[in-house]
Amino acid sequence: MGDAMPNEEKKPLILIVDDTPTNIQVLAEALRAEYRVRVASSGKIAFEVIAKLGAPDLILLDVMMPEMDGYEVCRRLKQAPETKNVPVIFVTAKSDAVDEEYGLKLGAVDYIAKPFHLPIVAARVRNHINLKIKTDLLESQAMLDGLTNISNRRRFDESLENEWKRSLRSSAPISLIMADIDYFKLYNDNYGHGIGDECLKKVAATLADSIERPSDLVARYGGEEFVVLLPETDAAGAHNIAERFRSHVEALRLQHQYSGVSAYVTVSVGYACVTPGVESSPTELLRLADEKLYQAKEAGRNRVC
Ligand code: GH3
Ligand code: MG
Ligand code: MG
Repeated sequence: MGDAMPNEEKKPLILIVDDTPTNIQVLAEALRAEYRVRVASSGKIAFEVIAKLGAPDLILLDVMMPEMDGYEVCRRLKQAPETKNVPVIFVTAKSDAVDEEYGLKLGAVDYIAKPFHLPIVAARVRNHINLKIKTDLLESQAMLDGLTNISNRRRFDESLENEWKRSLRSSAPISLIMADIDYFKLYNDNYGHGIGDECLKKVAATLADSIERPSDLVARYGGEEFVVLLPETDAAGAHNIAERFRSHVEALRLQHQYSGVSAYVTVSVGYACVTPGVESSPTELLRLADEKLYQAKEAGRNRVC
């Protein structure tokens, strides 16, 4: 039992939605060896399961169900950002061409007629799960910076937009840290681009180690510039993280004999905190943090403003 859990966690999650218990049982049994399987006997329960467990990797969906039918469930799944990319397969007795076309047009990836032949269901599920895994991988790679392996600017811009909206609703403050390596051009020019890249990786890893909450996002914003998005964090919290990052980079003791401020690689850090309102914007938060970073540079570098 003890060591079966981590593997179990890695298995793709399949949600079966069907109001007929025998259908659910047969399908669930067949899929259980390869997947984590959850079942729901109505659309309402399906959404409750998703709210609790997060989006599954695939949904097998019955069409004819009382209250909310499968088409309606599919429509709602495709409307919500969290579930719109989950592949949906209809498994249904409504198997004429018109029904099938309707289901596929709603965004389902496949349509299987009842009574179903289990090996075919299993094979189709496997195909769609494999595609889903590849798509997820590509999507997450598109959000990562290739050199440092932390989030890239695209991911950051997306998160800033989302967190801003969330803060607007909850009236919570949101903080942003901007950091830039000091005299990095001279570092590159003198030690070479390869050593420069190594330095960027170490600084990025140090920054990633400086945050505390899963909701905090560290990203590479540009060449030697990094940002941290801190939802629900006030100015004092942002200051703590900014200063921790600055001191940890200094403590790396990466030799930089061409720096004008230290014998080692250092960073200058600016941060800003706002509570989103109608008169403010994400751009404004970025501008404020950038202004503070500029002040830190002007004031002598290797410091937090
Ligand atoms: P300051 O203290 O004012 O920030 O000066 P700086 O030299 O750090 O700033 P500047 O913007 O003039 O130079 C940034 C340098 O960062 C230019 C380039 O050599 C280096 N750089 C940017 N991206 C990369 C990268 O991906 N790899 C490496 N090795 N160097 C990079
Ligand atoms: Mg710099
Ligand atoms: Mg720069």
